[in-house]
Amino acid sequence: MTHGSHDPRPPAGGRGRSPLSALNAGAGWGLLLVRAIGNWLNLSTPTGLAVAALGGARIRPGGRGLWLAEGYRHRFPAGGAFTIGTVITTASPSLAELEDRVPGVLEHEEAHTWQYTYACGLLYLPAYAALMGWSWLRTGDRASANFFERQAGLTAGGYVEAPRRDVRDGVRAACALMSPRRGTLSRAAGRRCACAGGTRGAGGGA
Ligand SMILES: [Zn+2]
Repeated sequence: MTHGSHDPRPPAGGRGRSPLSALNAGAGWGLLLVRAIGNWLNLSTPTGLAVAALGGARIRPGGRGLWLAEGYRHRFPAGGAFTIGTVITTASPSLAELEDRVPGVLEHEEAHTWQYTYACGLLYLPAYAALMGWSWLRTGDRASANFFERQAGLTAGGYVEAPRRDVRDGVRAACALMSPRRGTLSRAAGRRCACAGGTRGAGGGA
């Protein structure tokens, strides 16, 4: 269910601008209404409100059709903040406090709200999970090569740009993660992944 959860690390290399920054900054009431209604109808905002409520967060309107949920208590999803629909949720006492630590994170999270609109709501979640896996294969990091995170702005989200690696290296790293403890899984992974050199001594890893 998670997407867009962020470690509250200081941004590296300045704030940066999200490709969706212009939309955040320039959207008039008409577009904001389309987003608000769209994310209700595609069920992402009701889901976000339910998740926030189940996590014990305090929920309040945030303007621009957004909902802000603060003081989220559950450990999952981990990170400084996450967004579902037009609901921006944080485990921090307040989003203002989080913004102080990670300047630009609110703009980053609002960028995700547009993604729910154009990705038809809850379909965003499996798409995000797939892109997160792809990012891990390419970089060993779940966000750095994730299209949605890049579009929302890596730096603003508190992420750093990780160097790319060959996909085959990523597959070897995944195999290596599976190999040490479970013999059955290791053997199956070795066959399925067609890891060059087998699952032992694979390079990379996270
Ligand atoms: Zn994000």
